[in-house]
Amino acid sequence: MNRPAPREIKNRRAEKQLFIQWSETEQQTISHLRLRGLCPCSQCRAARIRGQISLVDESVTVEKINPFPYGVQLVFSDGHDRGIFPWSYLFEMELS
Ligand SMILES: [Zn+2]
Repeated sequence: MNRPAPREIKNRRAEKQLFIQWSETEQQTISHLRLRGLCPCSQCRAARIRGQISLVDESVTVEKINPFPYGVQLVFSDGHDRGIFPWSYLFEMELS
């Protein structure tokens, strides 16, 4: 099941982190690099399943956040923009 939308999302460009305020007490930070490496689009999922070596540049950053009703589309500095990250997927990143 998807989670309700967070209260706030901030793109901390200087720290290369995405900051998510889920509720009064729950907050999370995820690095841009980790987000790129765990991109949920069909292309990246297929590559991970095949065990392909990921050639993600360590300096990759999130350039733009486009809100969707059930999550956010992240546009990365390497031009990749196919991933729409559902709220639950972002939330579970902390646990994985
Ligand atoms: Zn992707």
